[in-house]
Amino acid sequence: MKKVIILGSTGSIGTQTLDVIRPRRDRFEVVGLAAGGSHVDLVADQVLEFDVRVVALADAAAVDPLHRALESRAAQLGRAVPRVEVLAGEHASAELARRPADTVCNAITGAAGLLATLATLEAGTTLALANKESLVIGGRLVTRAAAPGQLVAVDSEHSAFAQCLRGGGRREVRRLVLTASGGPFRGRTRDELREVTVADALRHPTWSMGRVITINSATLVNKGLELLEAALLYDVDLDDITVVVHPQSMVHSMVEFCDGATIAQASPPDMRLPIALGLTWPDRLPDAAAGCDWTRATSWTFEPLDAETFGAVELARRAGKAAGTAPAVFNAANESCVDAFCRGEIGFLDITATIGRVLSEHLDGPGDGRPGSAHVGDDVVTLDDVLAADRWGRERAAALCRDLPARCTPATDRTQEGRRP
Ligand code: NDP
Repeated sequence: MKKVIILGSTGSIGTQTLDVIRPRRDRFEVVGLAAGGSHVDLVADQVLEFDVRVVALADAAAVDPLHRALESRAAQLGRAVPRVEVLAGEHASAELARRPADTVCNAITGAAGLLATLATLEAGTTLALANKESLVIGGRLVTRAAAPGQLVAVDSEHSAFAQCLRGGGRREVRRLVLTASGGPFRGRTRDELREVTVADALRHPTWSMGRVITINSATLVNKGLELLEAALLYDVDLDDITVVVHPQSMVHSMVEFCDGATIAQASPPDMRLPIALGLTWPDRLPDAAAGCDWTRATSWTFEPLDAETFGAVELARRAGKAAGTAPAVFNAANESCVDAFCRGEIGFLDITATIGRVLSEHLDGPGDGRPGSAHVGDDVVTLDDVLAADRWGRERAAALCRDLPARCTPATDRTQEGRRP
C-alpha cells in the first residue's frame, strides 16, 4: 500500500490524482490533503471519501468553514463526523509534506508550492511534481535537495522525456524536443491578439486545466517554464532544447539521440497517464488512461514556434541562462500579470511585455544588493534570495501594470477557469 499526500487536492491535477487513486484503493492510501481554502466543501467530500486524517489549508480563515462542511456532509451521509487534524497558514502544506508518506504529489499552483517541494525532498519522500514553478524558481536549490530518482515529473512533456530517455544513454542525447499545442491563439498575429478577452484566453483547444496554467498556455509562458523545467530535470543545456508546435497534443515530447533517431511518447491528451506514472514510476499503472486509436485515419502536424508573436519562450530562455534569481523574477512577474489580466486591468500582450520589462530591470539593474538586484549564476542563490526576488518581481510587475490602461473583460467566476468537469 502506497501512502500518498496530495497538495492542491481541489485543483485540476489534484482531483485527477484522486480519480487515478479512486478505483485503486487497494494500492494507494491518501494520508493527507492540502488546498488553498477556497473550496472547503470539496475538501470535506474528499476527506470523507478517502478517509483522510490530516488536511492543510493555506487560508486559516477556511478552517471553521471546513469543520462545518465536514459536519454537514457527514450528516447528509449518515456518518460520524471524521476526526481530522487541520494545519493552517501559509506553511501548512510544507508542514504536511514532512509527514510520513511514500509520495507527495505537489499540485499547488504557482510559487506558493516552493516550500512544500523543498520540505518533501528534505523529508526523503518521493516528489511527484506537477508544480513546475517551484522547480523553476528554486532551480539548483531544488535539484540539489533531490536524491537520484526522488523527483518525478508529472507535467506531461517531462513525463514524456523521462519515458523517451529510457531509449538511450544520457551521453547519447543530442537534444530534447518539447512539444507545445500552441494554445488558443496559434496562428494569430500580434495585431489580432491586442483585443483578446480573458474568456478567449481560457478556451484551450486540447487541455482542460486550472486558470493560471491555461492563461500561461495562451501566452506560451507555460512553455517557457517547461523549457526551464526540462533543463533542470534532465541536466540538458537550454540551447539543446527545441520547442515545436504540435496542435493535436498527441505527441507529448521527444528525445533526439546522437545517431539521428528520435523517440517520441504519444497518447491522447489525458493527465491521468503522467499522474499515474508520477505515483508509480518507474513502473506503469495498468489502464491508467486510454491509448491512441490507430484504426482511424488521423494527422499529426509539427511546425516551428512563432517566437516573434509569442516572445515568452525566449524570455524564459534568457532568464534560464542567467539562472540565479532570474527565473524567480520571470515567474513572479508572470503570476502578477496573469492576476491583473484576469481582473481586466491589462491587455493580453501586456503580460509578456511586462515580464520582459521586469526581467530586464532585474538583469540590467545595479546588482548591488538593493531590492531587484539580480543574483545570477547557479551557486549564489539561497532560499531567501529566491523569496526576495519573487516578492520584488511581483511588486514591480504590479506597479508597471497599474500604469497600463485597462483593456479587457475580467474573469467573473471559476466557471471560466477551464476546470475539468
Ligand atoms: P488549479 O488552479 O486547478 O489548482 C490549484 C490547487 O492549488 C487548488 O487545489 C488550490 O486550492 C491549491 N492551492 C492554491 N494555493 C495554495 C497554497 N498556498 N497552499 C496549498 N494549496 C494551494 O491548478 P492546476 O491543477 O491546473 O495546476 C497545478 C499545478 O500543476 C500548476 O503548477 C500547473 O502548472 C501544473 N500542471 C497542471 C496541469 C493541468 O493539466 N492542470 C498539467 C501540467 C502541470 P483552492 O481550490 O483552495 O484554491
